[in-house]
Amino acid sequence: MLTKELIWLIDSPEQLAAKNKQYLWHPFTQMKDYIEDEPLIIERGEGIRLYDVHGNAYYDGFSSVWLNVHGHNVPELNQAIVEQLEKVAHSTLLGMANVPSILLAEQLIRLAPEGLTKVFYSDNGATAVEISLKMAFQYWQNRGIAGKRSFVTMNNAYHGDTIGATSVGAIPLYHQVYKPLLFTPYVIPYPYPYRDGGEEAAVGRMLDGLERLLQEKSSEIAALIVEPVVQGAGGMIVMPEGCLKKIADLLASYNVLLICDEVATGFGRTGKMFACEHDGVTPDIMAVAKGITGGYLPVAATLVKEKIYDAFYADYEEQKTFFHGHSFTGNPLGCAVALANLRLMEERGLVEAVEQRAGHLAQLLSPLSDERHVGEIRQKGLMVGIELVQDKETKEPYHWNERMGVRVCKLARKKGLLTRPLGNVVVLIPPLVSTDEELDAMVGILADSIRESTLGTEGGAQ
Ligand SMILES: *Cc1c(COP(=O)(O)O)cnc(C)c1O
Repeated sequence: MLTKELIWLIDSPEQLAAKNKQYLWHPFTQMKDYIEDEPLIIERGEGIRLYDVHGNAYYDGFSSVWLNVHGHNVPELNQAIVEQLEKVAHSTLLGMANVPSILLAEQLIRLAPEGLTKVFYSDNGATAVEISLKMAFQYWQNRGIAGKRSFVTMNNAYHGDTIGATSVGAIPLYHQVYKPLLFTPYVIPYPYPYRDGGEEAAVGRMLDGLERLLQEKSSEIAALIVEPVVQGAGGMIVMPEGCLKKIADLLASYNVLLICDEVATGFGRTGKMFACEHDGVTPDIMAVAKGITGGYLPVAATLVKEKIYDAFYADYEEQKTFFHGHSFTGNPLGCAVALANLRLMEERGLVEAVEQRAGHLAQLLSPLSDERHVGEIRQKGLMVGIELVQDKETKEPYHWNERMGVRVCKLARKKGLLTRPLGNVVVLIPPLVSTDEELDAMVGILADSIRESTLGTEGGAQ
């Protein structure tokens, strides 16, 4: 254990701040802005709170970027890592196996939507997606249907930051600059009822777009990739019920594979173990990461139906092998803590608890929708986006220069809540174990921060 005294001996908070500035380049961060601010440096965590090097406590209101399940420093999860550590920290899955990776694969298949039968490991969401895309592509090649090589994605999709995952990304701010480097998917609308004339119109537009595309091009399309039920980084946009099922049915009738990116939504986040379950859908390929280890260690997986696995299963000379793998694929420490995470989720009835907590959270949030600058509150399970607008009547957004989302989150941090915005959408994704009292406190801080930050902004820049 590092006591406070020991940390001080290593480096003072001031020295750490200086070294942070000198040596680190942070992800998704304009360093010019970051350098000017007082840096937040986390020293430890306990329950759903994180503590900085000065000893200040913060609610982890975004689950350390959408990962955390049981809170921080959880004895059962710590124990699982220590026990595995005393056996072996790492050993490869290339042509051999290790104990926790086998046991975890069994549990994943038991918990996953019916019909998924094989697990291929990697170590983060982007690689799980990358693998999904390469598998879908090679599936058709291996079957001798060489023309099916294109992908379909949805407007404002986010699937990670490697080149393949970026290719099926459709958020201009993140993806535009890399366009010359990427393969080009077909892009259909994602239903966004708030801005697309309500549910029926939004879903209709999406389905029409998809069906027209499939009619014309299905012979050259390998797969469609979608964030099931909630589009995360695109702004926490919730699909109307039944929508995913309609997509799945259309794809099946045109012989196109469905890839569900459950990286954000998987492991209870939306009130089901996997978001696909809301619509009773089993995708052909499913990518999971974030919550799989309870937010402890980097493990990811791509789950497939038997027909996908079968298309690669052949005599070696046929060259149908899936030649893909990473150094840390199936890491025993990560798989051990993932097993402990899943066991704890079941023991605590956590997925069912999310449904109940989501109801309480919805009640807490509902007064906020009367606020002058709250356009829409979107929620599925413990996944919330609050879209702020300059003008509620016309739904006119704040200009991105105003950085309204950033302002709200900065103020929330001062008040003891950590979260990150998605443009003008303020996110609340608390750890799944958050109690009603903790949810009260977090929503209270968020509501105050929104009120104070938006006060007097009605006549702002056009
Ligand atoms: C976070 C996320 C990813 C990328 O996962 P990383 O582990 O950050 O690479 C992919 N897809 C979705 C839907 C995500 O939310």
